[in-house]
Amino acid sequence: MSKLPIVTIPAAGLREKTRPVTRFDADLQRLIDDMVDTMRQANGVGLAAPQIGLPIKLAVIETLPEEDDDGNEIEGTRDLFVVVNPEIYWMSKETMKGLEGCLSIPGYIGEVERAESIRVRGLDRHGRKFRLRFDDWDARIFQHEIDHLNGILYIDKLTAPENIWTEEEFEAMRAARQENTDEEQSAVVGD
Ligand SMILES: [Zn+2]
Repeated sequence: MSKLPIVTIPAAGLREKTRPVTRFDADLQRLIDDMVDTMRQANGVGLAAPQIGLPIKLAVIETLPEEDDDGNEIEGTRDLFVVVNPEIYWMSKETMKGLEGCLSIPGYIGEVERAESIRVRGLDRHGRKFRLRFDDWDARIFQHEIDHLNGILYIDKLTAPENIWTEEEFEAMRAARQENTDEEQSAVVGD
C-alpha cells in the first residue's frame, strides 16, 4: 500500500461532480487500499476520491472508536466502511451542530449543522449493495464525505460565516472556555 497525495483548496477538482464507479477490478481494490492507508496516515476519519484528485463516487470512512472511562480508545471498536456510489435516501429532521475539519482544508475547524441520523445506500468494494443507518458522529462523517462526491465542502455549510477558526485559535478558545466552565468538549471530526 502506498500513501497518495491529498489535494487541498483551492484545487478545482474538489468542486467537480463525480461519476459512478462501474468496474470493481483489481485496480479499484488497490486504489481503495491506498485510500485507507492515506486516511490513516493523515489521522483522518474519512477520505473521498476527489481529495486524491479522482472524480469518482468512492469514499472510505473509519468511525470514531469507543472510549473507556479514562478516555482511552478501546481497540477493535472502529469500523471501516468503503462506500461506492452512495446515496443518502433519508435524513432525520433533527439536526445537530458539530465541529469539522477536512484534510483538504488543513489547519482549520468549522461548525456545521447536520442531520442527526441518515440512511445510506450504495455499494461496497466488491459491488455488493448495502443499506445502513448512521447516527450522531458517524452520520456527520458520512454526510461530509458524500458532500465531497458532489463538490461540496464543509465551509459551504458553516453555521455562520465567522464560525471557522484556525487550529491555534480553536485551541486558545477551548483553553479559555475550560478555565471558565467545566463544560464537556465535543470531539472534532477531522476528515
Ligand atoms: Zn473533507
